[in-house]
Amino acid sequence: MLTITSIKKGIVIDHIKAGTGIKIFHNLNLDKADYKVALIMNVPSKKMGKKDIIKIENEIDIDYAVLGLIDPNITVNIIEDEKITEKRNLQLPERVVNIIKCKNPRCITSVEKYVNHEFYLSNKSKGEYRCIYCDEVYSVQEN
Ligand SMILES: [Zn+2]
Repeated sequence: MLTITSIKKGIVIDHIKAGTGIKIFHNLNLDKADYKVALIMNVPSKKMGKKDIIKIENEIDIDYAVLGLIDPNITVNIIEDEKITEKRNLQLPERVVNIIKCKNPRCITSVEKYVNHEFYLSNKSKGEYRCIYCDEVYSVQEN
């Protein structure tokens, strides 16, 4: 396990599936950060074989729904005074609004620009979502 003591106050995102870290890094706009950030890839992990870790030396607002969609198995550690003060396990959100888009061209969200793209979790184990308007399936694994 890598030490987290290099972070005084901030966030460590752990147990990211190897190869997914870069996606989260960009999603949180960390490539544009003016504070200390680190993306560590392919860290050996007993549980996962290999994993990615992101360290952020700053308090940032994290959209847990978006993170959960990208990788529901990650852990978010909140660090204060070099210690973990909070651990959050993510999961697939029950509902997602305006994160994924319905691909059905006949769906009202495709026709009406001002309607929210809203999906509900229809199958947790498969990671399947459905559009609340037309039932179009969105699969997390394939995206
Ligand atoms: Zn739809």
